[in-house]
Amino acid sequence: MSSALIFDIKPYSINDGPGIRITIFLKGCPLSCDWCHNPEGISPNLQKLYSKTKCIGCGTCVENCPVNALALTPEGINTNTDLCDLCGICADVCPTKAMEMSGSAVTVEEIMKRIRRETVMMDQSDGGVTISGGEPMMQSDFLIELLDELGREGIHRAVDTTGLAKTETLLEVARRTELFLYDLKMMDPQRHKRYTGVTNEKILDNLKILAASGGKYQYQDSLDQRS
Ligand code: SF4
Ligand code: SF4
Repeated sequence: MSSALIFDIKPYSINDGPGIRITIFLKGCPLSCDWCHNPEGISPNLQKLYSKTKCIGCGTCVENCPVNALALTPEGINTNTDLCDLCGICADVCPTKAMEMSGSAVTVEEIMKRIRRETVMMDQSDGGVTISGGEPMMQSDFLIELLDELGREGIHRAVDTTGLAKTETLLEVARRTELFLYDLKMMDPQRHKRYTGVTNEKILDNLKILAASGGKYQYQDSLDQRS
């Protein structure tokens, strides 16, 4: 069974499709938008994050690091990335969550067990599951397997996408998805590149192909108002 790296699970989501939903956030995104609300979702890899503003300088992380990768300095905690093996102990012992790990590996079966705990909420609200990111199509084997499992259990499936993926993958996903939330950032290719790091030709092509295939989608281009 496939596994994926996720960075969040949000039950009771009301803005990610119809009804009340559980939203699964997969790591990895091909865009790097200036306004990104989930920067921990950009890297496809496990990460250790540090917030200087939350750090009280207690030194607990330094004392507990098994490989002495951390140092307390007047500017905050420094990490020797050559030594750090991302074991996560510093995040476990940090009292203020200034140190946190982003990314946990889960199998489809593990996610399905978590989703089934929300069956009543989903059924009573005509909700379902939304798979978001990052860009969920970057972990396409897991995504397709999860969508198949959800389909077998009759759960409504939405995929929140940037649209930047291989067209074959998009169409495979479309066959298993009731609704795409197509997050088209801007229509103008140059401005798209300026604000997201990539041009939007492939994203627009994929949207046309998705529409022609009969795939159901909602899209927004409200960010096109940026100057
Ligand atoms: S993740 Fe582990 S190895 Fe890396 S700094 Fe934290 S405790 Fe040390
Ligand atoms: S344990 Fe947390 S609060 Fe204490 S020094 Fe380390 S990062 Fe800062």
